[in-house]
Amino acid sequence: MAEEKTFDLVVLGGGPGGYVAAIRAAQLGLKTACIEKEGALGGTCVRIGCIPSKALLDSSELFEQIRHKAAMHGIKVAAPEIDVAAMHQRKDAVVKGLTDGVAFLFRKNKIEWLRGFGRLTSPETLEVKAEDGSVTAVRAKHVVLAPGSVPVELPFLKFDHERIIDSTGALSIPQVPGHLVVVGGGVIGLELGSVWLRLGAKVTVLEAMPTILPGMDGEVVKTADRLFRKQGFDIRTGQRVTGAERKGEKVVVSIEGAEPIECDYLLVAVGRRAYTEGMGIEEAGVRLERGVIQVDERFHTGVGNVWAIGDAIGGRMLAHKAEEEGVAAVEFAAGKHGHVNYDAVANVVYTWPEIASVGMTEEEAKADGREVRVGKFPFSANGRAKAMAEPDGFVKVIADAKSDRVLGLHILGPRASDLIAEAALAIEFQGAAEDIGRTVHAHPTLPEAVKEAALAAGGRAIHI
Ligand code: FAD
Ligand code: NAD
Repeated sequence: MAEEKTFDLVVLGGGPGGYVAAIRAAQLGLKTACIEKEGALGGTCVRIGCIPSKALLDSSELFEQIRHKAAMHGIKVAAPEIDVAAMHQRKDAVVKGLTDGVAFLFRKNKIEWLRGFGRLTSPETLEVKAEDGSVTAVRAKHVVLAPGSVPVELPFLKFDHERIIDSTGALSIPQVPGHLVVVGGGVIGLELGSVWLRLGAKVTVLEAMPTILPGMDGEVVKTADRLFRKQGFDIRTGQRVTGAERKGEKVVVSIEGAEPIECDYLLVAVGRRAYTEGMGIEEAGVRLERGVIQVDERFHTGVGNVWAIGDAIGGRMLAHKAEEEGVAAVEFAAGKHGHVNYDAVANVVYTWPEIASVGMTEEEAKADGREVRVGKFPFSANGRAKAMAEPDGFVKVIADAKSDRVLGLHILGPRASDLIAEAALAIEFQGAAEDIGRTVHAHPTLPEAVKEAALAAGGRAIHI
């Protein structure tokens, strides 16, 4: 083995949690390295998650608009065709641009990328095994574990990665499938289901729970469910899938108490789990619970100078949550004060209309014993949404009945993903519904619907 390399801080994992932590460490003057086993930086999010899925969602949305909306705007076009290979090429180029961008940021910040599989050999030492089998020994004053997550595999629905696929497989289906069945009516099922539905596939969603998107605001889910069915989604809730069998190029899915379904692809999207095995974490003394790394409120594992962040520590599996934890953990490691306000972490589902929420749902606020005032405003009464021919959905503000403080804000509607930033800021600043309602919003814009919903919480919406 070659000579040991030494650093102030080493990050294990180059996803949004890990690479952002590495950049923050370098900004704070620490000699930093990041261990990543894949051929590109950026992790699940950039390589096989957020970015490629949004690239396909944008392509398929454009296709849908040309197909169904062009005529309404007076635009005459021949029926569009989809070149799936070209769509995938564009997606791959978007991903490459961003993974290269992370590599550029590493060079700019003088962060060393240690390419290979990393393993803790003690709380302050690691080994990195490269693809060619060579091993590099590494010593670090601080270690930040950010190994992320992988798809949950059900024992009775094993992936064959050809026709029984996970999200990564669903990002590169080579042709529009005749019939795609999705197990799991969560965020991946609905986002990737939307992609293939818009391009012409029949899409059936089999959800175990009584509703899709369990845990999101009930009213939002109810309306979204109706809109998704109108788009053509065959949504079946309360389903117990018991197995799947390959029949040549087809898959037959068996369901308790219902007829089996034959399809071309079966996407199993029933959640993700922390990926922590085989990298010496437990052996180094770090506590795992069902594979999830246990940390305190400072992201410290309780062992030496070992910190942990992102999907591997549990909580919401979101890129921006991982990033903020990366920044906070490194700031703590550097003797500063880190901070993540989980109440202000927005959650977005990139269907169309989009769904975005931050803070408490009405159900959660009531279960918490809070007296709330709810303000709602429909996009059908918003001038810009009308101009865009996007009247579906609404904004819902949950405010504390006494203090008027914004406890939660939920949006089903066009560009909800962008609109939610204002609500996150209001919650971060501990703002009141009246603060949003009194803020001047440009006209005609979609954010005016947020302002009106906030005014509605005080019983004084103008346009409804
Ligand atoms: P990861 O991104 O999983 O990164 C961990 C990295 O560590 C990986 O690159 C892995 O190769 C590496 N690694 C692990 N162990 C080792 C080891 N021992 N040695 C070397 N390297 C190692 N979130 C959003 O907020 N918005 C979205 O729109 C969104 N869309 C998604 C779409 C899909 C299809 C999927 C699957 C996920 C999506 N997510 C989205 C979730 C998001 O991708 C994750 O929450 C985020 O990537 C977590 O970041 P992380 O840094 O904790 O882990
Ligand atoms: P999810 O938790 O969002 O949804 C899984 C769904 O599968 C749930 O509705 C659950 O009730 C259902 N389910 C579980 N077991 C089942 C079974 N046996 N049969 C039928 N249904 C079953 O998980 P996901 O969609 O796989 O996504 C994983 C994670 O990745 C998400 O939780 C999220 O954190 C992250 N992600 C985020 C985004 C985003 O932010 N837009 C996009 C994709 C993924």
